[in-house]
Amino acid sequence: MQPFQCFSSLSKKLLECYAQVMAQARRGRSYFKLLDAVNESGCPICTLFIRDGLGYLDMMMYERIMDVPTRMELIQSFGLCNWHTWQVSKLPEISSPNVGFAILASDLLRKFERLAGAGQDGKKRTLKSVFTKKKRKIRPKIKQGTCPVCRHVSQFESYHLRQLLEQLPEEEFFRSYGASQGICLPHFLMTEEHFFNHTNFQLLLEVQANKAKTLRNKLDRFVEKQDYRHPEKVTPDEAKAGRIAMEFLNGKPGTFGSEIQREPSRNRPGYSRR
Ligand SMILES: [Zn+2]
Ligand SMILES: [Zn+2]
Repeated sequence: MQPFQCFSSLSKKLLECYAQVMAQARRGRSYFKLLDAVNESGCPICTLFIRDGLGYLDMMMYERIMDVPTRMELIQSFGLCNWHTWQVSKLPEISSPNVGFAILASDLLRKFERLAGAGQDGKKRTLKSVFTKKKRKIRPKIKQGTCPVCRHVSQFESYHLRQLLEQLPEEEFFRSYGASQGICLPHFLMTEEHFFNHTNFQLLLEVQANKAKTLRNKLDRFVEKQDYRHPEKVTPDEAKAGRIAMEFLNGKPGTFGSEIQREPSRNRPGYSRR
């Protein structure tokens, strides 16, 4: 190879490399966050939904729990929802989640005591005074806002869904998505609800339907092979199809909750959280 040719091919490679770096920089950190989630097991949106919640909770418990606006917001919402309360125990020890939660719990119990009128007047209660006390309902005043972590993750959920649609036709992303288990059906239906007219929605629908078909075939083979007369054994892929179907049909544990309706709520039923 002539020295000039060598230089020319080197500069071409450098240019390609530069173009690649620039393309990656344009896609940004959130693209790679999504791509990493796609390459992991199960629905990538559920993965990010859980991860975003834990990240926000960690920051709240470790960095912001002493800030007045954060504490006021948490007192107003009467703390966290059931799911995010239990997620506190999953935070790393280094963030001292027990200390953060103790501060929050103390604030909430003080609020409850105040609303319950416990020892407000400093007088010792007699049995008679307990029964003659003016009755007031606590419920309307105790919870006056939504769990702040739920609010945060709901906003990002919509952002991740849009990003998934936008990146879907991109070569590298499409390859990874094709090899993955895909998004769960609740997240797919949310995408339909919010982005039905998006240019790439039909592509997602096509991919989703193919994934559903492949999974159903595996489940059918698994069921057929339960017959002892069947000549073939269940493959490892077929054996885990049931577990995959649970996530495909209903999302990761905790992300969509139950359908128990203890009170009328505009958030239930359905998959949309808004
Ligand atoms: Zn999901
Ligand atoms: Zn929550």
